[in-house]
Amino acid sequence: MIEISHLDLSFGEGRSAQQVLSDVTFRVEEREVFGLVGESGSGKSTVLRCIAGLYDHWTGSIAVDGQPINNMLSKDHYRKIQMVFQDPYGSLHPKHTINSTLTTPLRIHKIDDQDRRINEILDQVGLPRSCRFRYPHQLSGGQRQRVAIARALILEPQLLLLDEPTSALDVSVQAEILNLLVQIRKERQLSYVMVSHDLAVITHLCDRLAVMREGRIEEILGCETLLNGAMRQDYTRTLYEASRSYDRAMARKLETA
Ligand code: ADP
Ligand code: MG
Repeated sequence: MIEISHLDLSFGEGRSAQQVLSDVTFRVEEREVFGLVGESGSGKSTVLRCIAGLYDHWTGSIAVDGQPINNMLSKDHYRKIQMVFQDPYGSLHPKHTINSTLTTPLRIHKIDDQDRRINEILDQVGLPRSCRFRYPHQLSGGQRQRVAIARALILEPQLLLLDEPTSALDVSVQAEILNLLVQIRKERQLSYVMVSHDLAVITHLCDRLAVMREGRIEEILGCETLLNGAMRQDYTRTLYEASRSYDRAMARKLETA
């Protein structure tokens, strides 16, 4: 589905240049859920932004469906790959109704049958159709994140890039959104690349994960390996140990939701 090799990226130039990604290499299979974890500032969001085409000054290669994206993005690329951001309030235009947020991508891609598509997608993400003509501030945080997910899905992508999709939400709605993501992936046979600092979330959703540190991948491992404590890198173990107590509460919620 997606293959990334030797991805490097810096911000700034000359002596003030800061290398943010170094030799990032991984692949995500079709229908796989792949996690990216690591401390804040390790480059997780930057990797997603490169894949999504939000940056174009990287070197290395990124191929989607066997096609290199070569820093040049087609309209097609945007249909295949969509991103959901951490903060649903910041990512939705405050003066646009939900209807207009969902109509815009359809209009850009000249897709008809807009009414039916919008109602269907609202049903699928668990929003009442009556939300359609509301503004973001008239919705709860969880509902806003459902709108962001609906917007990502409306073009029927194959890959969703999820950047801490629940970390700005109340704990009580986090599990709801995660379960929605699990259900949608099953129904639509999508691939996900998901960033989270919460290892309980990652192990609940993902097949494999990459551990990032200072712009590099430390280790790629299956979730089973993580849960069995069979990681190879001490850094992975430290992250895992650090997150365990907090994670147990979340894990219980996910199981019972
Ligand atoms: P993470 O998502 O893992 O917390 P990011 O990918 O957001 O980390 O950031 C990685 C590093 O890149 C950080 O040091 C951050 O300060 C830097 N960085 C991210 N975006 C920019 C930018 N647009 N300009 C300059 N530096 C940036
Ligand atoms: Mg980030």
